[in-house]
Amino acid sequence: MSELFIYNTLTGKKEKFEPLHTGKVGMYVCGPTLYSEPHMGNLRTFINFDMIYRYLLFLGFQVKYVRNITDCGHITNSLGQEQDSIGKAAKLEQMESLEIVYKYNSKFQDIQKAYNLLRPNIEPTATAHIQEQIQIIEKIMANGYAYESNGAVYFDLEKYSKSNAYGVISGRKIEELLSESRELQGQDEKRNSVDFALWKKANPEDMQIWRSPWGEGNPGWHIECTAMSTKYLGEQFDIHGGGMDLKFPHHEDEVAQSCGAGMKNPAKYWMHANMLNVNGQKMSKSFGNFFLPFEILEGTTSIFTKPFSAPVVRFFMMMGHYRSDLDFSNDALLSAEKGYERLTEAFGKVSKLSASDSSNSKEAIAQVESNNAAAMNDDFNTSKLIAELFELATIINKIDSKDLIADQNDLKKINEIIQGYFVQVLGINFESNHSNQSQAMEHLMNLVIEIRKDSREKKDFATSDKIRDYLNQAGIELRDGNEGTSWKI
Ligand code: AMP
Ligand code: ZN
Repeated sequence: MSELFIYNTLTGKKEKFEPLHTGKVGMYVCGPTLYSEPHMGNLRTFINFDMIYRYLLFLGFQVKYVRNITDCGHITNSLGQEQDSIGKAAKLEQMESLEIVYKYNSKFQDIQKAYNLLRPNIEPTATAHIQEQIQIIEKIMANGYAYESNGAVYFDLEKYSKSNAYGVISGRKIEELLSESRELQGQDEKRNSVDFALWKKANPEDMQIWRSPWGEGNPGWHIECTAMSTKYLGEQFDIHGGGMDLKFPHHEDEVAQSCGAGMKNPAKYWMHANMLNVNGQKMSKSFGNFFLPFEILEGTTSIFTKPFSAPVVRFFMMMGHYRSDLDFSNDALLSAEKGYERLTEAFGKVSKLSASDSSNSKEAIAQVESNNAAAMNDDFNTSKLIAELFELATIINKIDSKDLIADQNDLKKINEIIQGYFVQVLGINFESNHSNQSQAMEHLMNLVIEIRKDSREKKDFATSDKIRDYLNQAGIELRDGNEGTSWKI
């Protein structure tokens, strides 16, 4: 097995991947807060970690992949007021908190199926791990790094940072955070406004309330990941992942909680996936610039002129390296679709190629295979991998046009590369793609438009009107222009 290198946010370097236990990998990824339907930006992060999971499996590791579901405790701060995002959504939709979580979790599962994500081995929820969270808070308090104040418990960041390093992931300086926070001092029950909540006292309107040694309340957001990752992967595991925006404060506070509870920095490798942007701005619910995964498939977004299939969107995502940001635009998706079609058209030919007795393509194929491995072993560089797959498509086309010859073994190898790197690692299934369907639709519509044109020329308006009305009923609009007739769904 060649060596895999992973960019570790902790050290700011690509490091050789050496799992804590030979042949096994423990990976924890921060999952969604299910107060609404996950958007395409959230999905980019989950697709990236799905690819990472897939490649680790491809390399033969036994992977335990844990991704949590935040179903309580995620506080958002809007207009200076702290609110539990799930409770807020529940009130708006006049439902129970757990009803909200169930509703959006079932949507999330459908999205993952549609976009071909593998399910993690465990998807634990915060509400099912309240005891574990309370136990860790008690340990942190016993070590003197947390204090109780008016029924809430806060992490004492100033005290912690005197004997521990804070900011190891994000590079934030505790002195700066403390001095910024001094200006806001004395406004609440915290000793210092940078102190974060481990446990919050219940408000009368809270829908989810649990008993604790500090009275009735609910857990803070960061503590759930510490409790669940420790429970399922141990005090230290191999990979901890999430989006870049979680470096601070979420991941920084996770490290502080683990160390404050007498454990270690929980992960050997911290991995952060970059953001999906729209016109250079991070896609986010609060900016209102977000698109839902099913809207893209249905073609009902404001920025896309047509629907795009899930394999095309996934291919587009994989064209960008997980640590680069990626802009979501109509043009970018159209060009990804072209690339996807070029590749899958070539890949689709392989089963029809006939093998020769001799070969002059062995070396070129072997080169692609070793470059594929090198790309993926270089911190999961899917962008380089796709460039190599285009090289493979060129080789296939040359074999098809007899500019190259391939024997049975070569064809078998080509198939293995496609199945291994395209289908298994990138998670792109091309047999069941929509693109064949949309090509068939294109042909069919050309035929219908042709028949309508003929009937109009023959002044058979009954037929031409019938075609138009029938298509209208099917939601297809015909537009007659100078350059002929076009159609739109
Ligand atoms: P949340 O449900 O807000 O906790 O987010 C779930 C995951 O989606 C986290 O790992 C975030 O970092 C990630 N995320 C949020 N917005 C984006 C975005 N625009 N692009 C990529 N990942 C994102
Ligand atoms: Zn987390």
